[in-house]
Amino acid sequence: MASALTDKLSRLVKHISGQARITESNVADMLREVRMALLEADVALPVVRDFIARVKEKALGQEVIGSLQPGQALVAIVNQELAATMGEGVSDLNLAAQPPAVILMAGLQGAGKTTTTAKLARWLINQRKKKVLTVSGDVYRPAAIEQLKTVTAQAGAEWFPSTPDQKPADIARAALDYARKHYFDVLLVDTAGRLAIDEALMAEIKDLHSVLNPVETLFVVDAMQGQDAINTAKAFSDALPLTGIVLTKLDGDSRGGAALSVRQITGAPIKFAGTSEKLDGLELFDANRHAGRVLG
Ligand code: GDP
Repeated sequence: MASALTDKLSRLVKHISGQARITESNVADMLREVRMALLEADVALPVVRDFIARVKEKALGQEVIGSLQPGQALVAIVNQELAATMGEGVSDLNLAAQPPAVILMAGLQGAGKTTTTAKLARWLINQRKKKVLTVSGDVYRPAAIEQLKTVTAQAGAEWFPSTPDQKPADIARAALDYARKHYFDVLLVDTAGRLAIDEALMAEIKDLHSVLNPVETLFVVDAMQGQDAINTAKAFSDALPLTGIVLTKLDGDSRGGAALSVRQITGAPIKFAGTSEKLDGLELFDANRHAGRVLG
């Protein structure tokens, strides 16, 4: 279990450890530091509040009172709660469907959907020995369709053509039909993003969802997104039954606090982390490991 703590936090822990028992006031001191660390990591404010309330309840409960090392017990509770909030351990991709298993990619423009689609294609080929087809439903940006074509070729998967004059739902039906006829195991469907949430975008992706009946609906979100992550996540989660989250750009400076926000708002497990611009920069997300990073 990761326990990378800020210096301040460690000092507080030592201080508390020297005391006979946990009191309301030394818990409050420590939680103030945890709260600061979470806000610095850009975890959304309401999520921080809930988190602190849960830790406080646990800390003042049975588990810590009477503990021989109350400081360590507190740190353990903070880490456990962080990992639990982010989904506990590793959560694998679900491919349990009559082939082709359809994976629908959702998210804002720039979140990393197209890149992640290709990374996932590569991951499925290499790690799961699957035959993978990709298709783009982004009829607004011909460049996005071309981008998917290019990266799909790099990933060693097959790309199904689509054009801007088609309706996304028709593209989806044609790709699904092709995938069935040619015995693909997985169909990855990239979708149009917008710079911000809008009704038309949501209606379109809902329509795609009902046509495709995907086994996985993955919400792709940029880890560098701060407080805004919560609004985006809520909009997508209200529109679609999300089955997982991909947190991209974790190779950046961000402490990845968006993981907590997005996980709490959607209730969906974080399945993958994007760790570079390259096609091999995709890993199964490990909540326990990520807990340490968020605390800083
Ligand atoms: P889309 O609009 O959601 O399809 O986003 P793109 O896939 O086009 O990605 C937007 C930008 O983010 C591109 O420059 C990608 O190379 C970059 N990107 C995507 N994922 C990652 C990642 O995990 N790490 C880094 N460093 N860059 C990424």
